[in-house]
Amino acid sequence: MSEDKIPLAGVIGSPISHSKSPQIHMHWLKVNGLRGHYIPMDVNTDNLERVLRTLPDIGFVGVNITIPHKEKVLEIADLVTDRATLIGAANTLIFRKDGNIHADNTDGYGFINNLRQNAPDWDATAGPAAILGAGGAARAVITSLLDVGVPEILISNRTKVRAEALRTEFGKRLKVVDWVQAGNILEEAATVVNTTSLGMLGKPALRVPLDGLQKGALVTDLVYAPLKTQLLIEAEEMGCVTVDGLGMLLHQAVPAFERWFGVRPEVDSATRAAALR
Ligand code: NAP
Repeated sequence: MSEDKIPLAGVIGSPISHSKSPQIHMHWLKVNGLRGHYIPMDVNTDNLERVLRTLPDIGFVGVNITIPHKEKVLEIADLVTDRATLIGAANTLIFRKDGNIHADNTDGYGFINNLRQNAPDWDATAGPAAILGAGGAARAVITSLLDVGVPEILISNRTKVRAEALRTEFGKRLKVVDWVQAGNILEEAATVVNTTSLGMLGKPALRVPLDGLQKGALVTDLVYAPLKTQLLIEAEEMGCVTVDGLGMLLHQAVPAFERWFGVRPEVDSATRAAALR
């Protein structure tokens, strides 16, 4: 890229108009006084590889990848980090100067750093974690929790075989519990994570009974629309420490922005406000 070319980044998915990533990255470009643009792009699966191979020629330094392409890009990328391979999906691509596409997954990083920022006393090693859900986001959460030393993970998912597949893959520290008994896994948990889409605007409510929640447990929801889900409202009433899911979205964007634009951005109240605008 010539020196006067403005670096471009963006997010590719379908649909894409709901994405908050453009507000986040454009905010960071502005507050850091950097030249650059971040563009949402609606691309279908058939065109994905062709688009990804063309973008570097027109000044793109990388892109975020979202639903439905997070798994597909692993086949297209020339280099895939161990973490993205383990999770089975990538959310960040870096277009290297040698023409190679490098794929990474920063969702687990975002998950842990959101908790560290908003619940600084949280200790992953304090006790088991209870995870509701076994989709793509659950894989990132499990990888990162195991990384920071959680002693045991109790997981429950509507489709039990998906949770069992995670047990096979991630090993003995995972224990699978039937969805009808999901409430039971909360009783022992020091950390509770909803990784299902239940409770999100337009989706059914999360109906897992919450009376087993332990006072002082850390409860977080990956759903961030609404910001305060029913799970977080009830957990707070029961004396739990709660952290919303917006911070995960902000923190997962940090390593990508740094790689693309060369400055490590701050996640602060102005970043949250920009994402909610
Ligand atoms: P996914 O792979 O499609 O998984 C969806 C999960 O929700 C599965 O466990 C699924 O269970 C469960 N589920 C869906 N409808 C259900 C229902 N009616 N009853 C019971 N369980 C149901 O999606 P994902 O990528 O993991 O994302 C999950 C959620 O996390 C989404 O709301 C997404 O927006 C959010 N997310 C947030 C962030 C963030 O930065 N805060 C990052 C990533 C994802 P089955 O296996 O039985 O279908």
